[in-house]
Amino acid sequence: MSDCLFCKMVAGEIQPDIVLENEHVLAFRDVNPQAPTHILVIPRKHIASIDELDEADAPLLGQMFLAAGEVARQCGISASGYRTVLNCGNDGGQTVFHLHLHLLGGRAMHWPPG
Ligand code: AMP
Ligand code: ZN
Repeated sequence: MSDCLFCKMVAGEIQPDIVLENEHVLAFRDVNPQAPTHILVIPRKHIASIDELDEADAPLLGQMFLAAGEVARQCGISASGYRTVLNCGNDGGQTVFHLHLHLLGGRAMHWPPG
C-alpha cells in the first residue's frame, strides 16, 4: 500500500524509533505516547484492521503478541504489567488503517477506557 504510513515504515521510507523487528513484525515507539512506555507492533504485511483479517493471518496475530511480550520484557514492564490494545474502525478510535497493537505500560491503566 503505497499511501499507507506504516507500510512506508516497513519499506524503510520513514524511519520510526524501532525497538524490535523480525521477519513478521516491526515494533517502534509511538510518536505521541500515552504512557511512559508506548510501543506499536505492526505486521510487515498490510492488513487494514481486525475487520480485514482472514484465516491465513492467524499465525501472524500470534507473532504480534509474541513480539509484544518480548518488547515488554525488553522495556522492563513485564513485572509491573501493561495493556495491549487493538483499535478497530471509527468508534474504536483507529486512525491509521494498518493493523497495529498498542503496548502501554509504565503506569497504572484505567478501566473502563475512554
Ligand atoms: P490508532 O489510533 O489506534 O490508529 O493508533 C495510531 C497510532 O499511531 C497513534 O497512537 C499515533 O500516535 C501513532 N502514530 C502516528 N504516526 C506515527 C509515526 N509517524 N510514528 C509513530 N507513531 C505514529
Ligand atoms: Zn500498510
